[in-house]
Amino acid sequence: KTRISEKVLEVKPSITLAITAKAKEMIESGMDVIGFGAGEPDFDTPEFIKDAAIKAIHEGRTKYTAAVGVLELRKLIAQKLKRDNGLEYSPDQIIVNSGAKHSLSTAFQSILNPGDEVLVPVPYWVSYPEIVRIAGGVPVFLKTKKENDFKMTAEDLDKAITSKTKAIYLNSPSNPVGAVYTKKELEELAKVILRHEIFVVSDEIYERLLYDGEKHISIASLGEEIKEWTILVNGMSKSHAMTGWRIGYTAASKDVITAMGKVQGHAVSHPSSITQYAGIGALQCPDHFLSEMVEEYDVRRKFCVDRLNQIKELSYIYPKGAFYVFIDVSKLFGRTFKGKVIEGSMDYANLMLEHYQVALVPGIAFGADEFVRISYATALEQIEKGLDRMEAFIKELD
Ligand code: PLP
Repeated sequence: KTRISEKVLEVKPSITLAITAKAKEMIESGMDVIGFGAGEPDFDTPEFIKDAAIKAIHEGRTKYTAAVGVLELRKLIAQKLKRDNGLEYSPDQIIVNSGAKHSLSTAFQSILNPGDEVLVPVPYWVSYPEIVRIAGGVPVFLKTKKENDFKMTAEDLDKAITSKTKAIYLNSPSNPVGAVYTKKELEELAKVILRHEIFVVSDEIYERLLYDGEKHISIASLGEEIKEWTILVNGMSKSHAMTGWRIGYTAASKDVITAMGKVQGHAVSHPSSITQYAGIGALQCPDHFLSEMVEEYDVRRKFCVDRLNQIKELSYIYPKGAFYVFIDVSKLFGRTFKGKVIEGSMDYANLMLEHYQVALVPGIAFGADEFVRISYATALEQIEKGLDRMEAFIKELD
C-alpha cells in the first residue's frame, strides 16, 4: 500500500509552473526578468465581459446552476459553433467546464477505462499526458516529424493505433509549435480515426489566434460520422484574455456529454455562476475587442521571426497560430557557458534564467529536448530585450 495514490505518484509536476515560480521570485527580489514562459495573454479581459459578470453579481446570479452550465450560455456556444465552425450541436450536446483544461480532464475521466491508451502527438502541451494518467489511462507518445511542422500524418496515426487505443489528442493551432492542420490533413486523419473507431479529442483553444490568413477547421465539421467521434474542446481563456476566470466548454455526442455532466456534477457541481455569466458576455462581446488583440500578437510574431532570422545559431518552426515560437537550440548543445556544458534544453533554460534573466520553457517539457518555447504574449519592448539577451548569451559561449 502506498500513502499517496500510485497513479498520482506517476504524475510529473509541471516544468512550466516551476520556471514561472522561479521567475516570479526573481522579479520580487527586484530583478529585470523577461517573461517568455507563461502561456497567457498580457491583455486585460475586455470591459464588456467584466461588466457582464458585475451585472450578474448585482442581479443575484450567485446560486447553483445546472451541472452542465446555464442554458443561455450553452445556447450561445451552440450558436458560436454553428456560425464559426459550421457545426450543429444542441445545448444538450454541450457542457460548460472550469477552463479548457478541466474540459479535457472531465472528458478523459468520462471515456477511459483503466489501462486504456491515449495517443499523444509529440511535442505536446505539458498537461496532456498527465491528464490521461490522472484519469486512469496510459499516454502513448506518437512521434511526428519536424519537416512537417511536427504535425502527425494519417500514416503515423494508423501505425500507432493498437487494440488498446481509445482516443487521440489533436491540437490545432498547436501549443507549443503554432502549427495549423489543413483541411486535407484533417480529412486523412478522420478516415483513420473512423476506420478504428477511436475518439479524437480536438483541443481548439487557439482557434482565434491565426495569422497570414490561415483558417481554422474543426475536424468535427468534416462529416456526421467523424462528428460522432469528436470531443471538441474550446474556451475563452486565450481568445478573450480570460485565463483567471476559468471557463471552457466541450461539445460532443449526447452520451459523452451526459457522462461528463455526471463526473462534473460530483466533482465541482458546475463552473462558478458568475464566470458563466462572464462567458455569456464573452460570446456577445463585439469582435473588435478580440481582433485588436490578434493584430497585436501578429506584430509581435513578425518581430520575433525577423529577429530570430538574424541569429544564425537558432532556427524555429514558422508559427501560423497561437502565441508561441518553438526555437531549435540544439546547435548550442555541447558548447560551454562559464565552464558549464549545455547538454539539453533544461541547461539552456536554466542558464538563460540565472545569467540573463530570460524565462522560457525548455522543450523537454513538451517531449522535444532540442527546442525551447518562447511566448510572445508579452510587450514588444520585452520581446526585443529578451531576444537581444538570447543573442548576447550565444556570443559568450565557448
Ligand atoms: N489547451 C492548450 C493547448 C493550452 O495551451 C492551454 C493553456 O495553456 C489549455 C488547453 C488550457 O486552457 P484553460 O486555461 O482554458 O484551461
